Amino acid sequence: MIYLDHAATAPVPPEVADAVRDALLQTAGNPSSQYPAGREARELVSRSRSTVANALGCAADQLVFTSCGTESDNWALRLAVWQGRHAGKHIVTTAVEHSAVLETCRQLEQEGCTVTYLKPDRGGNVTAAQVADALREDTVLVSVMLVNNETGCVFPIREIAETLRSCGSKALLHTDAVQGFLKVPCCAGTLGADLISISGHKIGAPKGVGALYIGERVRNPRPLLAGGGQEGGLRSGTEATAQLAGFAKAVELRTAGLDTSLAHMAALKAYALHKLLAIDGIVRVGDGAAPHILAISLVGYPSANVVQELGAEGVCISAGSACHRGRASHVYEAMGLDKRVKAGVLRISFGPETNERDVDALADALRRHRDTRFPML
Ligand code: PLP
Repeated sequence: MIYLDHAATAPVPPEVADAVRDALLQTAGNPSSQYPAGREARELVSRSRSTVANALGCAADQLVFTSCGTESDNWALRLAVWQGRHAGKHIVTTAVEHSAVLETCRQLEQEGCTVTYLKPDRGGNVTAAQVADALREDTVLVSVMLVNNETGCVFPIREIAETLRSCGSKALLHTDAVQGFLKVPCCAGTLGADLISISGHKIGAPKGVGALYIGERVRNPRPLLAGGGQEGGLRSGTEATAQLAGFAKAVELRTAGLDTSLAHMAALKAYALHKLLAIDGIVRVGDGAAPHILAISLVGYPSANVVQELGAEGVCISAGSACHRGRASHVYEAMGLDKRVKAGVLRISFGPETNERDVDALADALRRHRDTRFPML
């Protein structure tokens, strides 16, 4: 199989599977239990937290484990709105966020919030100046993603944090860093966001584990789940020890060769651009700078068909985000793409183990598709 869909989910390396298996079989106690098996499980959770926190550049007690990036996003938005409830109900976000943010915003609108959705330019980018223009006295939350999952555009989070400060805004800043963590610089201290969402399965951890960084400006955070008081009382529920062990191992593996693997992915993206844009009928979509995501369009050829046919040949890519399940993408809509370009958008995404032969196989498959099918638009 030629797997070029790492932004949907990354393959689990054997070392991660081993860490999960070991945790299941050998560290099987409940971390809350007071005998040795419980203590071992507790220590495993604590080591895992330190590893992930270290990679995110924050203190271990600022990181709460969740079940996924979606959960972290939902919770982050609600935390900020709760904190600001006496100051206002205005939220600034972008029209190109992941649905985990956008759908939460829609819920919050139904609950009385007002949301400003910033539109990207044709390249897919959003600027700190747009955020500054949208700020109001009653803005309590700014939520802007670090890397867009469909275009690979990197948004200026640090600049936005500085803008909030220089405008004297008390709004909390959340960034969905699910596609940015260990792909672009993503250090909590440097980004300056108050809330940062990450997810394990985009970097080779098992599905079903994520985390939320909660910075010090978030005062008395409201627990997501009430119960036995795990995760510092913020998210009760017996810890998913095996997933956490897998998350930490995946982080360890990715951080070990990070500079090399990012340079490799960036070079591969340049190679893919060169190879794919040489094919008649293919254009680039957006100007995403992240090294692992490339959006193109086989103009006029419906992307769902292309993805299905290539998939049947063993070449896995995506029609925009995997989360859309065939629905038209709000991201390309917001970018104002031409109808025929929009219809044909494909997302290619790389991992550390992707190589030029994978890209060559994709180029051949796309060429075959173009030559044997007709454009529908
Ligand atoms: N945010 C972004 C930018 C994503 O790309 C995704 C997943 O594709 C999510 C959030 C949701 O993460 P999870 O699949 O862990 O719920």
